[in-house]
Amino acid sequence: MAPNTLHGYLYEIQNLRIDRAHGNAPHQPVLLLSIIELIEQGQISENKIIPSPGLVETFVKYWTKITDRKPKLELPFFHMKNRSFWHHHPNPGYETALSVVTQIKSFSQLRKIIAYGYFDADLYLFLMNSENREIIRHTIIETYLPDFRDAIYNLISEEKEISEYSQKILQQVDYTFTIDKPFTPFKTKKRTRKAAFRRAIMRVYEYTCVVCELQILTLDGESVTEAAHIIPVNKSGSDDVRNGVSLCQLHHWGFDKGLLSFSDTYEVLVSDLMSEKGPVEWKFTTLDDKQILLPDNEEHYPAQEALAWHREHVFKK
Ligand SMILES: [Zn+2]
Repeated sequence: MAPNTLHGYLYEIQNLRIDRAHGNAPHQPVLLLSIIELIEQGQISENKIIPSPGLVETFVKYWTKITDRKPKLELPFFHMKNRSFWHHHPNPGYETALSVVTQIKSFSQLRKIIAYGYFDADLYLFLMNSENREIIRHTIIETYLPDFRDAIYNLISEEKEISEYSQKILQQVDYTFTIDKPFTPFKTKKRTRKAAFRRAIMRVYEYTCVVCELQILTLDGESVTEAAHIIPVNKSGSDDVRNGVSLCQLHHWGFDKGLLSFSDTYEVLVSDLMSEKGPVEWKFTTLDDKQILLPDNEEHYPAQEALAWHREHVFKK
């Protein structure tokens, strides 16, 4: 069979190794479904599949629909190299390590050694085409997960809506930010809006707290950071990406309680109206005047109007 036809790849995909020692855990099919989803969402737009927080989150979402075993993204990400279509690119200095290692014991070891995985160029082209992508996805589901067909297709359509909403939030920045006329891309469930806002904010700030720059991600897809609204939704705040920042749980609390706010030059303001004790690096007063982390794209910066509203209505001066 010619290796670079869609048929050839489908044949290979139908013959993935399933981990029988672990009760037929379908790691590789789930990894492929996750990658396909990120391609569809535009989160993967080149043939470099980075073991990123977004990939972990997506992998976990599929995994938990199928089994209650612990999700281990590192296993398929590494072992899929035994398929002829999947390859690894090492981090600088780990070329030899990658060529001799036969097992990956943890996600952090994977990230240390491997910069990204990539497909055969031909397979990647098939995956970039929505029709072919659908055929590949269908084949994976029918071959490995027929019992979960409905649950997976439900998840896919739910995710599609979240993704469309989140894309709209990220793209609507040529529209002037105003408090009076909050932007709503389209009518949808509250749950979808919430998830889409979070996804947009986490993409822009890479799961990092804008105040302390902490980033902690667990292997089951949890993050210490939360997508915080600057003007709260119940005060007519919108899901505009410029009405949000990523904050760790401690600084989210401080921000919502008005103990922290941001100046019009994006520095941290700390309220005098509190007392605090404890290690200096944990204290809010240490953060006074600190420049906050800003998105790469200036269009996604927190809106001045939203920051002014927060200083006026929430900040305890
Ligand atoms: Zn923080």
